[in-house]
Amino acid sequence: MRQSQLFTKTKKEVSKDETSINAQLLIRAGYIDKLAAGIYTFLPLGLRVLVKIENIIREEMNRVGCQEILMPALHPKENWLVASRWDTMHDILFKLEGARGSEFTLGPTHEEVVTPLVKQFVFSYKDLPFAVYQIQSKFRNEARAKSGLLRGREFRMKDVYSFHADQEDLKIFYERMAKVYERVFERLSLGDITYKTFASGGSFSKYSHEYQTVCESGEDEIHLCQKCRLGVNKEIIVDQNSCPKCGNANLEKKKAIEVGNIFELNTKFSEAFNLKYSDEEGKNKLIYMGCYGIGPSRVMGTLVEVFHDEAGIIWPESVAPFRAHLIGVNKNSKIADEFYNKLTDSGVDILYDDRNSVSVGEKFFDADLIGIPHRLVISEKTGDKIEYKKRGELNVKLMSEKEVMDLLYVS
Ligand code: ATP
Ligand code: MG
Repeated sequence: MRQSQLFTKTKKEVSKDETSINAQLLIRAGYIDKLAAGIYTFLPLGLRVLVKIENIIREEMNRVGCQEILMPALHPKENWLVASRWDTMHDILFKLEGARGSEFTLGPTHEEVVTPLVKQFVFSYKDLPFAVYQIQSKFRNEARAKSGLLRGREFRMKDVYSFHADQEDLKIFYERMAKVYERVFERLSLGDITYKTFASGGSFSKYSHEYQTVCESGEDEIHLCQKCRLGVNKEIIVDQNSCPKCGNANLEKKKAIEVGNIFELNTKFSEAFNLKYSDEEGKNKLIYMGCYGIGPSRVMGTLVEVFHDEAGIIWPESVAPFRAHLIGVNKNSKIADEFYNKLTDSGVDILYDDRNSVSVGEKFFDADLIGIPHRLVISEKTGDKIEYKKRGELNVKLMSEKEVMDLLYVS
């Protein structure tokens, strides 16, 4: 894409009430725009990153047979009365009035929709197990929405719901999802600093598990066993003040961001909605459920909190909005144009700074702020070579066109 055509521009400043690093950098670089506290527009650059994050998650969910659906964001009050959460979750629900006195809420989570949905299709043990998921916007009236994408009032969530004949089968799937989550965070470049963490209960089970990314700006405090790569959330430290696996009592305290969690719902919602199946002997039994969340928009904010320097964002390759940032130094440069066309034709996704209206210094400044991993500079000075620099590194190398193509080509 030609940067001269990009409708957004980088900004010198953001409003003073935007205190989080992720919101400051993402707004300045033109990834997101704030409509109100905790409510953001994803601009062309930002949407590219969000979609890449969501597609990595989608691929991994599909790989283990989860089936993608899309449920409504607008939920009738009646569904929320069934498990009594219309009242217990009152503080975070955005409630609305419809025509003729009907009431609704914007969905903060989807057990109230998925459980009655599944009830229409599942009758027998032969229909189990299975899992459905969606990637969608959720709405929560969060009291503190001051951390940019980390805590939105409207935010993105991937939520999987799994359905099983008994608790043993739920446990098997739960462990499989735990492994899938490791792969997801690995692919999102957060693997090394994301810990499976014991947190307070699922329904009827002692613990649920959170995936916590160690980061100074995190709201949560976790206590880590580095040997087992496990954490314990501070909120359950009274119950569990040593490593749940090896008993190590020497846990390391860290701030962290909850990027995902997995939860045994067991029969909480199937009881409320009377979701049953008939077993091999024809006996009616409650279905066991699990739910598994990841917040793609929170992941995007987390990546910025973790990967940045004073000059701007440093995206990992797997989610960068473009593969490379090509900068034309000279105005209306033919060689830069030609190289851009060549790269684009060979399928490399490039942001090309072809702007004639800004100085070279500003182009470099913006490239650092935007944070695309590979920077390529073409000028009359470099002749038939291209100046290459990796974002976050200092050294600049001269490379031939072929070397650059080899480096960037992704089949
Ligand atoms: P938290 O403890 O941070 O409030 P939660 O435990 O309520 O989150 P879930 O309801 O399980 O979170 O949601 C699943 C995932 O959705 C979370 O792990 C997180 O990644 C993401 N998420 C939850 N709330 C928000 C929010 N307000 N903004 C952005 N992402 C969120
Ligand atoms: Mg939580």
